[in-house]
Amino acid sequence: MDLLANGTLALAHGKVRLCRACDHMTGEVDHACRACTTDAGTRPAIRQLLVHDRPEGRPVLERADFHANRASMPAHLVNLAQSAPQRLLLSRTRACGISLGPLGLDANLVLDPRLGLHLTVLAAAAQRGEDPVMTLTENAAAHIVAYGAPVRRWGGMQLRYALHGCIPYDQHALAINATVCRIWCAVCWSTARTTR
Ligand SMILES: [Zn+2]
Repeated sequence: MDLLANGTLALAHGKVRLCRACDHMTGEVDHACRACTTDAGTRPAIRQLLVHDRPEGRPVLERADFHANRASMPAHLVNLAQSAPQRLLLSRTRACGISLGPLGLDANLVLDPRLGLHLTVLAAAAQRGEDPVMTLTENAAAHIVAYGAPVRRWGGMQLRYALHGCIPYDQHALAINATVCRIWCAVCWSTARTTR
């Protein structure tokens, strides 16, 4: 709710594509539906959505967003993040997830799991009083870092990414490593199956 009040996130009507067979929202373009196997195609629709409009001129990802200061900056990830759409859709149709019904959106819309993952890490770190550090592979980072931009600096915390193979694993700040990895495995599986 705070993120809506300060304008970081917004509710907006937008054009989307819905699967003709199961109503799964495939996104803004005509992708094949991954939630069913009917290959029925998609139809256009207008839906009220939760969105994040990236501020112009602000990088999606920068050096300070990475843990392990002595490691070289993964420039390819920074460039890839910068190519994310200017408007990110943060509401998705899923069988499970954090319902966005309380915001007044359709009951079948849930928070995009990539943003949900970031919020989960922040909540876990706040509960433990530790720095939020998310360990992940470069491939996973390429898929999710743009969705963390709205919340990476939030509540007095700064969430940073630690890339496997580039971090000292025994540091105190990585105490939540196991928790984060378990969460990620669940979200990654869900995202890979149904996100387009
Ligand atoms: Zn479908």
